[in-house]
Amino acid sequence: MENKIRVRFAPSPTGHLHVGGARTALFNFLYARKNNGKFILRVEDTDLERSTKESEEMVLNDLKWLNLEWDEGPDIGGDFGPYRQSERLDLYKNYAYKLLEEGKAYRCFCTDEELEEMRKKAEKEKRPPHYDRRCLRLSKEEVNAKIKEGIPYTIRFKVPEKDYVLYDMVRGKVEWKSGVLGDFVILRSNGMPVYNFCVVIDDYLMKISHVIRAEEHLPNTLRQLMLYEALGFKPPKFAHVSLILGKDRSKLSKRHGATSVSQFKKDGYLPEAMTNYLALLGWNDGTDREEFTLKELIEKFSIKRVSKSPAVFDIDKLNWINSLHIKKLTDEKYLELSKEFLIEVFPFLEKAYSENREWILKVINMVKKGLTTLKEIPGEISFLFEYRPWEENEIISLFKNDEKQLNSALLIAEKLSQLDEITVENLWEKVNEVKKEGYKGKYLFHPLRVVVSGKNSGPEIDVLIESIVEGKRIEKVIPIKERAKLFLEHFKK
Ligand code: GLU
Repeated sequence: MENKIRVRFAPSPTGHLHVGGARTALFNFLYARKNNGKFILRVEDTDLERSTKESEEMVLNDLKWLNLEWDEGPDIGGDFGPYRQSERLDLYKNYAYKLLEEGKAYRCFCTDEELEEMRKKAEKEKRPPHYDRRCLRLSKEEVNAKIKEGIPYTIRFKVPEKDYVLYDMVRGKVEWKSGVLGDFVILRSNGMPVYNFCVVIDDYLMKISHVIRAEEHLPNTLRQLMLYEALGFKPPKFAHVSLILGKDRSKLSKRHGATSVSQFKKDGYLPEAMTNYLALLGWNDGTDREEFTLKELIEKFSIKRVSKSPAVFDIDKLNWINSLHIKKLTDEKYLELSKEFLIEVFPFLEKAYSENREWILKVINMVKKGLTTLKEIPGEISFLFEYRPWEENEIISLFKNDEKQLNSALLIAEKLSQLDEITVENLWEKVNEVKKEGYKGKYLFHPLRVVVSGKNSGPEIDVLIESIVEGKRIEKVIPIKERAKLFLEHFKK
């Protein structure tokens, strides 16, 4: 089992899971599932000021919602835990002191003010703002004296003077010349390790075989390569995935609209549409196919097909993909998912979800194929509960100022208002009578639609009528007869 594939997603719990993080998680998940490996979730919470328990929970929930299940993680454990960095602090400390003993790191007693001064001086002299190694030159006695005095210190890594090369699975050969980095801190004076140090220890101890993460981590990778070498650990393989940009080609941010996974969830996107779309941000299967289920993505995924050029987040495309996945929902799933969106706007429908499921299903299926998001359902079916009195000039918009259409509508409304009880059958009988009076095609169906729904567009007329007629026992559904009367009241002069 030596070459077992083990990948990880390592979020810092400082807020919601955003699109970029979700894509990184997805690529890791797909790579693990495709190659029979393990997908590990590790929480990187050493930044005590910014990390919160709530954020961790939100991120885990968002990942679960996306169906990116992990094999090892803080909530489920595993053989390489703990999976929260804040619970591994002693480990990092021990390795930091090991490097110190081996002379690969040293104590730095410089204060923030001294470091700031050093930076300014370097800037003035147009040198890179590297640490000037003054503490590396302290004698053993000087160091001991400072420790005795209780002067706080950091542990600083002594950067080797050599070039580094990385063969990245996405970017190819990446080279760094000697001297691009100054000695950097690995353990802060409060005993907290820094991100670059923890990651190396964890990836090594957790036997991570491949690190798939965002391109912006490339500068960190240099530091990490140095640390792997100093610690005598074999580094994993790296794949740095390109940035996600907004349509204006700047880095995707809140300015571009929703970027957090939970916001997309609230806005009525489906998890399978999200994973489908996220996969296309930098990956394709070599054809122009764009619709994939998560299972199909697992079958098709290959790191070799991940592009190194930036991906552009295109909400129109996500909308299109979401509409495709909505169409594929089973009745059962669609009923379940529609509920919170409908009830938020029409709370009285809660009862219908248990007592009139057939009717609810008819109603939501009636609008299914035109949906971009689930959030649009209430707006699409609001005509059931609202029949708004028209403004005077809506004659023009409803009937395009066509007298004959208005006359037909008046005739239909007249006949319907006289029926004792309206059924689908007797309604169509009445419509047929109007037809016999010479109103056909657009002089029949359009006026009928306006009379029964109060709108000039919407679902197919047959189902539309059925949904109102069959909804007569549902609270707040306005009966057709009442609609006909309201129509007459308004247009009959
Ligand atoms: N915790 C890092 C982040 O959230 C991830 C680091 C990594 O993948 O190595 O950006």
